[in-house]
Amino acid sequence: MISEKMTEKLNDQIKHELYSGHLYLSMAAYCASIDLDGFSNFFVVQEQEERFHAMKFFHYIVEQDKDVKIFGLDQPETEFDSLEAVIDAAWKHEQKVTKRLYDLMNLANEEKDFATQSLLKWFIDEQVEEEASMLGLLKKVKLVGDKGQGIFMLDKELAERTFAPPAAEK
Ligand code: MG
Repeated sequence: MISEKMTEKLNDQIKHELYSGHLYLSMAAYCASIDLDGFSNFFVVQEQEERFHAMKFFHYIVEQDKDVKIFGLDQPETEFDSLEAVIDAAWKHEQKVTKRLYDLMNLANEEKDFATQSLLKWFIDEQVEEEASMLGLLKKVKLVGDKGQGIFMLDKELAERTFAPPAAEK
């Protein structure tokens, strides 16, 4: 059984995961608007991942016999200055997500809530990948700059990305 305080924080995290998805969909829309369909696809897949994260918290709260609450989402950015600015914002966003998960883990530690610690361990491991993938993309975009050929090749590569939920997960 998890505490009321933890239930509230995890419900808030569902909202935040869905907001992350909302933000990435907005980034996908921007990339489509500048004709980078591969980058757009990258962010569409990212949105699917965020929904998967939200549902992982959803199922966990239900399993703990607590009530899930779905809240309205904040308005994401809709205006971006450049492709590089988008990727940089996505990387900074992932760093904020990591910080939120650390705060949740601190609470789980304080409450000696070992079940939630175990759940959060999965998310914290996942964040290492999330931050690395955004930073890796940012570095590549900076490397090729606004050279048409390089961006075209990156765009083609990102068009291949598909969402694959981890097999053993809900
Ligand atoms: Mg997430």
